[in-house]
Amino acid sequence: MPKLLLATNNPGKIRELRQLLADCGWELVTPSELGLTLSDEEVGSTYEENAKMKALKAAQASGLHALADDSGLDVQALGGELGPRSARFGGEGAIYQQKMALLLERLQGVQPRPGRGCRFTCVIAIAEPQGGVYFGQGICLGVVAEVPRGEGGFGYDPIFYLPDMGRTMAELAAEEKNMISHRARAAQMARQTLKELLYDYERGLPTSQPAG
Ligand code: IMP
Repeated sequence: MPKLLLATNNPGKIRELRQLLADCGWELVTPSELGLTLSDEEVGSTYEENAKMKALKAAQASGLHALADDSGLDVQALGGELGPRSARFGGEGAIYQQKMALLLERLQGVQPRPGRGCRFTCVIAIAEPQGGVYFGQGICLGVVAEVPRGEGGFGYDPIFYLPDMGRTMAELAAEEKNMISHRARAAQMARQTLKELLYDYERGLPTSQPAG
């Protein structure tokens, strides 16, 4: 089975991607399993740019196909921030309790709709060692909660309220999150790409994608 490098150091993403891409025909490996150090540096201004750069760097460093996830929380009242910089909101050293407290402070007095309306976005890029890049993307709509609730998931999940479910993302079981999340939707597209790439790989066929 060919190896697919999950180009991230984020344990929450690794856990979810392992579940979402289970039985995809590729052996999922992490940078630490390969003894690889991948930087978390992101210099692009869009999810697409960052996902592509991370996937290409990882494919180049490892000689393997590599899958990168760039994602974040976009809040209506903040003009789409936190965006691709979500992980760095509040400073590199801030923990999520602090990041969420800061965000809730910024949204004090803002009504649920439309101001607290928000979405999680996920772009997945799959890079070939030869340089071709393929994309999958997904979004999930919600409302920023008044207070954090729940212990599941990671990152901003405790303040991402899903009106239809009456719970925050962190109050969902992992399987429930994986049915509706931005990452689940992006991973569904990625699964199709991986199936096609596997077909080419097993037959030694050249891929159709020009180097990115
Ligand atoms: P990056 O893609 O490494 O820049 O980081 C994405 C950041 O967006 C994460 O570190 C979280 O702050 C946030 N994020 C992305 N996906 C999720 C999710 O599923 N739940 C909660 N926060 C998320």
